[in-house]
Amino acid sequence: MLNVRLPTDLLSQIQTSSTDSTHLVVGAGLAGCLLAWRLQQRGAPFRLIGSTAMPSAFSVAAGVINPVTGRWMTKSWNFDHLLPAAEATYRDIEQPLGLNIYHPIPELRFCQNADDVKRVGRRMRNPRYQDVLGDFHEAAHAAPQFNDPHGSFDINQAAYVDLPTLVRALRKVFKEQCLFQDEVFEHAQLKRDGDGWKYKALRADKVIFCEGAAHRANPWFKELPLKPAKGETLLCQSPTLQLPPKLFHHTKWFLPYPDGSFRIGATYDEADLTAEPTEARKNELLDAAKGALKAPHEIQITAHLAGIRPSTVDSRPIVGAHPKEPGLYVLNGLGSKGASTAPNMTTQLVEHLLDGRPLDPEVDLARYSD
Ligand SMILES: Cc1cc2nc3c(=O)[nH]c(=O)nc-3n(C[C@H](O)[C@H](O)[C@H](O)COP(=O)(O)OP(=O)(O)OC[C@H]3O[C@@H](n4cnc5c(N)ncnc54)[C@H](O)[C@@H]3O)c2cc1C
Repeated sequence: MLNVRLPTDLLSQIQTSSTDSTHLVVGAGLAGCLLAWRLQQRGAPFRLIGSTAMPSAFSVAAGVINPVTGRWMTKSWNFDHLLPAAEATYRDIEQPLGLNIYHPIPELRFCQNADDVKRVGRRMRNPRYQDVLGDFHEAAHAAPQFNDPHGSFDINQAAYVDLPTLVRALRKVFKEQCLFQDEVFEHAQLKRDGDGWKYKALRADKVIFCEGAAHRANPWFKELPLKPAKGETLLCQSPTLQLPPKLFHHTKWFLPYPDGSFRIGATYDEADLTAEPTEARKNELLDAAKGALKAPHEIQITAHLAGIRPSTVDSRPIVGAHPKEPGLYVLNGLGSKGASTAPNMTTQLVEHLLDGRPLDPEVDLARYSD
């Protein structure tokens, strides 16, 4: 048989008008790309539509997987299940794509006051925290670069995932396979077609929206109980500040990279949901850095990034079927924890779509129904 290689444009046209695409994934960010990858692993036909020109959260995220978070220093929701699933997923993708995206990293968190010291003491006595909390260090004993009047403690099992590299690599693979269309999805063009849906020339049995904070433009899912929060981070370098490979969590965190650069993050703002970085938040991050560091350092900013986290009112992801429109699904609400939650959420959704397996009620969209 002749193996004729068609020009990519022509192949794309043919595949766009074909009728075998049963899953249409909308939004090619972290959730959409991982979902498409999982569908492909299961041999399920799909098409991915997303715009590389639209704002996204994955492209500005540090991708940190933090076992203990927040003011109350609580273990992250479902961490014991989510971490192994996340690591296995990223490792599975790394090898065939030749990527190096999953980076375990030790973490040091500084207590900010005496209450923090008491709180972490209690956590350290709690057996549930044994695997994620390490030693407590008396004031000024753990990191000479930082102001440390109240002491600090080690957090084990932290990691960071290079989300921009991951998403861009998956998009590239799918584009080469003519499965990814780089365009803005026009909701008005999606029409019911018998048991399924039709989008321009494409027919799909199931349409899964992975639009992150842009969900408000979606007529079927605009009422999702999202509580979006803007975040800004700074990519920096310094001729005088050299940090060892450790995630330092002061009032803001410092994430050092192997090339000597580091990231400072992140701000949190539910009021300003514009896409652009702001001078005020840049100064907030620089002031926090100055306050955290013992000596003055020249900090050069190489990039100042902003994005909107698709957070939810109950801090849980949202996955599942539209209550009234058969064939429409959503995967959203990954908030500030997409790196750890997206792998398990995409597994759950694919098993739900292909095998009819029920979703975890804690993340099922149905939890909001009367
Ligand atoms: C400053 C900041 C720091 C963060 N740090 C971390 C961190 O350290 N660890 C962590 O786990 N998470 C972090 N996050 C959160 C993380 O980025 C999100 O959880 C994750 O990206 C959510 O994935 P998503 O696919 O739902 O949304 P997104 O990554 O935003 O992707 C959605 C995609 O859909 C596209 N889209 C939407 N509508 C359309 C349309 N109509 N047509 C075409 N395309 C469309 C968008 O352009 C985008 O590309 C951070 C976020 C921010 C903003």
